[in-house]
Amino acid sequence: MGDSGIGGSKERPGSDRRAAPGSSSALDCGEVGVGRAVDRLAGVVALAVAAPLAIARAAMAERETGRVFDEHRRLGRAERPIVIRSFAGTARGRRIPYALSLIVGDLRVIGPRPLHPADVIGRRDRDPAVEPGLLSPQRLRARTGIAYGVAEDEPIDQALFRPRNLALVARYVVAELLGGGGRPTPERFDLLGVELDNSTMDETLHWAVQQAQAARTAVLTFVNPDCLNQAIDNAAYRDVLSHADRVMPDGIGIKVATGFQGIDVRENVNGTDMFPLLCEQAAENDLSLFLLGARDGVASAAASEMQRRYPTLRIAGTHHGYFGPTDEAEVIDRINASGADILLVAFGVPLQEIWLDRHRDALRAGLVLGVGGLFDFYSGRIPRAPRWVREVGMEWAWRLAQEPRRMWRRYVIGNPLFLSRAWRDARNKRATRPTRPERPGLLGYGYYGDEGRP
Ligand code: UDP
Repeated sequence: MGDSGIGGSKERPGSDRRAAPGSSSALDCGEVGVGRAVDRLAGVVALAVAAPLAIARAAMAERETGRVFDEHRRLGRAERPIVIRSFAGTARGRRIPYALSLIVGDLRVIGPRPLHPADVIGRRDRDPAVEPGLLSPQRLRARTGIAYGVAEDEPIDQALFRPRNLALVARYVVAELLGGGGRPTPERFDLLGVELDNSTMDETLHWAVQQAQAARTAVLTFVNPDCLNQAIDNAAYRDVLSHADRVMPDGIGIKVATGFQGIDVRENVNGTDMFPLLCEQAAENDLSLFLLGARDGVASAAASEMQRRYPTLRIAGTHHGYFGPTDEAEVIDRINASGADILLVAFGVPLQEIWLDRHRDALRAGLVLGVGGLFDFYSGRIPRAPRWVREVGMEWAWRLAQEPRRMWRRYVIGNPLFLSRAWRDARNKRATRPTRPERPGLLGYGYYGDEGRP
């Protein structure tokens, strides 16, 4: 599938032969035809593999609802009306018949969500050459809760046998196995005795900017499975979490654990992803940052990197994180004298949270937050996991590979311990709750559901 003119069309001299991904020049007509044929074949294979399950699921639909299929009217290629079928009812496996839409050529494997006829008003922005499909990078990111900062109109290359699209399918499979989507997302939830906030990255940023401008000092914290394991054994840390202003869920482990309770996190709001967005907001709102923590020179290197990215960002000061109790008052004086609106503290969990809580009243910054190894990442001292690793929820494995001696206990012992604790926690909660929310279907979330539609 190179850039040669398969469709027999003549090229104009000097024309750019490399079509943009998803564009429909005459040159790539043949390529698109081959791509569609591959997708049809993928539908046949998927249906053949799922056939035994499909027969059982069809019988279940008939028995429970009196019909086999639900029909969803959508717009296909060039806004042609199409019908997408799913098995009736909400049980797992209802999306197996989507393979039929691949086989008849109504949908591609890779492509943006097909629009509902009512959506098309005001949505003339779509590239008519891009055909609707079942999977897209944007929808995967929305699914795994790291959707922020991703443009809806990012180009999509629809050829299935491209390494990045095969990787996308693999990531979907992992995301499906990890569950999520379609479950309720309460504003707050309890996990192992800690109350967590369940807001999106945008909401959290908005709140953070408001706090930074306020007179009172607000504490923002992030918790991952290791933090919750520590909170069980460390009463001081548990106490600090109980009166922090916001406790945000960080990472895939928390998402899996909420799944045990039949609920879901809205977004993975972790300090490392939030930092550049916070810097951007700080620059826009003329708020200054103080970076405290990590080894000598690391916080200042992270500050330089952020100033390079956001030239109007004001860094009020930086200081390393290896000082003794006798230097504490001097460090606090320095932070306050800098006039910083936001203080980021990177001492690791739970030291940073306990330190911030102890000195909260002495600090003048409007917003203070514990950020762990953040400065190590942004200074370039430790490379962060690539995006695709984060999308499949394997950032922890990346960190384990980088620092096995320091991290093995946290992840190799900590992760299973956390999951077993969270499972027992959910079981105890279920025992005191009469009804249980329904689990999502095999293919996850209701793209084609008609709920709330006109
Ligand atoms: N650190 C520090 N002072 C200390 C102990 C640790 O500044 O007394 C720094 C350390 O250099 C590293 C960060 O705290 O930059 C902790 O990183 P880690 O990856 O352990 O944090 P996590 O995000 O995993 O809590």
